[in-house]
Formats: sequence, C-alpha cells, structure tokens
Amino acid sequence: MRIIGANVKIISDSRGNETLEAGLRSDNFFASASIPAGKSTGTHEAFVLEPQKAIEKFEEIKSEILKKECRTQEDFDKFLIALDGTENKENLGGNLILSLSLAWARLRAKENNQELFEYINKIFSEIFFGSAIIKAPKPIFNVINGGAHAKNKLDFQEFQVIPTTEDFNIAYSVGREYYRKLKKVLDDKFGEENITLGDEAGYSALFKTNEEALEIMADLIAKNKYPLRIGLDVAASQYYRAEEYVINKKSYSKEEIKEYYLKLIEAYDILSIEDPFYEEDFDSFASLTADLRGLKTRINADNISKNWENISSKPDVLVITDDLTTTNSKRLKMAVDKNSGNAILVKLNQIGSLTETLEVVKMAYDNNWQVVVSHRSGETMDDFIADLAVGVGAWGLKSGAPGKPERLVKYERVLKIFG
Ligand code: PEP
Ligand code: MG
Repeated sequence: MRIIGANVKIISDSRGNETLEAGLRSDNFFASASIPAGKSTGTHEAFVLEPQKAIEKFEEIKSEILKKECRTQEDFDKFLIALDGTENKENLGGNLILSLSLAWARLRAKENNQELFEYINKIFSEIFFGSAIIKAPKPIFNVINGGAHAKNKLDFQEFQVIPTTEDFNIAYSVGREYYRKLKKVLDDKFGEENITLGDEAGYSALFKTNEEALEIMADLIAKNKYPLRIGLDVAASQYYRAEEYVINKKSYSKEEIKEYYLKLIEAYDILSIEDPFYEEDFDSFASLTADLRGLKTRINADNISKNWENISSKPDVLVITDDLTTTNSKRLKMAVDKNSGNAILVKLNQIGSLTETLEVVKMAYDNNWQVVVSHRSGETMDDFIADLAVGVGAWGLKSGAPGKPERLVKYERVLKIFG
C-alpha cells in the first residue's frame, strides 16, 4: 500500500497529558490512531518517547515512510522496528511506532473494504496461522478505583464486576445498571459529596479497607441477583516494598499474601485476579495458579434472576498477568514455561506494534491461556482495542467503568458490531 501523506500531532489524553495521534493517507483513504498511557506501568514496557521528541523523530523518518511501499501489516511494522533498531524501541519510541502501526492497520482495512475487526481477524489467521473466532468479549467493568488510579486508602487498584452472560447486550446493560446502583449505595454510606471518580471512571470513596469495598460490591450483586462476578487487578508491584507486600500498613511475605488472596477469592467468589505479585516473581504467580487450579467457581444458578439469560458454564479462576508479561512474547514464554498464570492482559502500547501484539495473542492461545484486551488508565477516544478484542475473539475487554467517554467508546464500539 502506497502512503502519500503522513502526519503525527500532539493531542491530550484523559488525564490532560500530551500524547500522539498519527494520520496516514493512501490514494483513496485517510486513517488515524492515537495512543494511551499507563500509570502503573511495568518495567519491561516499550519506551515512551516524550511527544515533542517523538514528533522530531517522525520528521526524520517521514520520507522513508512515504518512499516505502509495504504489502502487509507485518512488513510495515517490521520496517518501523528496523528503523528504530533497539530492543525496547527507545530510539523512535514505542508510542510513535504504535501510532503509525495502528493508523496503517485502519488504512489497510479501509483499502480492503473491511471492518477493522475483520482485518485483524484475517491477518491473525493468515500471518500467524492463529485461529480465532470473531466474538464479543466479556466487558470487565472497573467500578471502584484504588492504588495508583485514585486518591484513597485502597491498596488494590481495580475492583471489577464481570458479567457471567455471553450476550454482550445483556452484559453491558447489567454493568451499567450495577454502576448506577453502586453510586446510590456509596452516596448513602459515605455522603454524595465524598464520592469522586478515579482515572478509569470507577468510584473512589472513604473505604477503610479492601474488604469493605468487596463487601459492598458482593452485597449489591447478591441483593439484586445480578449475573456478575467480582474481579480484581491488585497491581501488587505498587505495594511491594523490599521483599514484602504492604497492605493497610500491615506487611505480608509472599506466602502470606498468597494465603490472603486465597481467602478473599473464597469469601467473595472472585473470578479473576490480576498481577497478584511483584512483576519479577514468576514463581509466586505459578504457586497461586497451581493452588487455584480446579477450584471451580461457585455460581449458583438459583441465585441468579430468571430475567438474565445465557448463564455461562463455570470457568476456572483466572490468574491474569499484566506487569509480569507486558504484552511481550519473551516474557510470556517465561510465564508459560513456569505456569505463572492462565490469562494474559494485552495492551498494545506495552509492546508498541500490532504485529508483535498478535504474536503474543497467538502464543497465549497456543498454550491455552485466555486473553484480556485492555485500555490504559490514561486514554483517548480511540476505540481500536474494541476491534482488537473482537478480532482475536478475546475472553475479555477491560475498559474501565461505564462513566467517562473515553471508557464508553470502546464498549459502544463492541455494541455497534454486535448490537
Ligand atoms: C492496569 O494496570 O491494568 C491498567 C490499566 O493500569 P495502567 O494503564 O495505569 O497500567
Ligand atoms: Mg493491571
């Protein structure tokens, strides 16, 4: 595909920070893509170049982009990766490379007269011989924010509800209803003036402990018989200090914190736990995964209102790796070899190109790991990740709570595809 025009500009993300938006033009079409930013970032993520510097780098390589005619996504991404020439993309920046990679994907899809998710599904199967059915992911709603994403006492970063239904329409409407009702419960308990929103649109309030938040969430699910389960992204690297995990001012060894998680999983019927240990501790991830294997979830069908249909079968508890694997096939290989989890969080900007992201998804599927496609805490209005999740048939899509536009657009895109 011939590129006849290219530009990169600076826009604001949802936290008001500067980020990149790239635009590419072919003979027939124009397409653009913008880049999110994490706050609880993993050490092994692709390098993020300061946006103004990234623009200067772009000006240096622009003529190469216009000269080079790439046939496939892989050709284009590998061409940029070669221009960068470093392991972690520190020369051109993972953010610059990714913005161009995603804009190219959108442009190519338009040229092919395909929806973006169809294009992604096709290259996934053709280039990687990956098999993925196009399907709606489970929306994972981060309804209470803590950790690095909110100013409150919660050590855990994300308190999520995950629909048990496979029907996206129902799942989305249950999630929205739960989110509205939770606001009312929190208003009554803490006072309306004390409720704010965290980075990902989840509520922040004067919770004293993680358990207090979990109790309120579980209670609301039980009272209304919602077809929802609880998920956690504890983002443990954020409370890891000198070989200890510090929660609510109490220190835990890795064995003790594992026991603590197991108790919470049992008590609150938790469906998934992300980043339970420090980002280099593959062995503790493996130990928790082994302890949870076979511990099937306990959905009691009688406990779920007859109004909700398509109750899914009981899956294993998911141990999701995020900072541990950073959407990097070398890190995922290490995690797979050690059985350090059973699901990977996939964030395009952790690795910095669509091709490398699809490589990771393929490796996950080849090893029977589930895939959860994720936004970042600093987002833009770009909904690329919705098409990615649908195109690779991901188990889940994590896009925060349904309460801020940059979170909603991703869920709304899935709704548009399947609604
Ligand atoms: C996460 O940790 O899963 C997350 C979305 O947060 P951030 O973007 O800050 O890494
Ligand atoms: Mg995470």
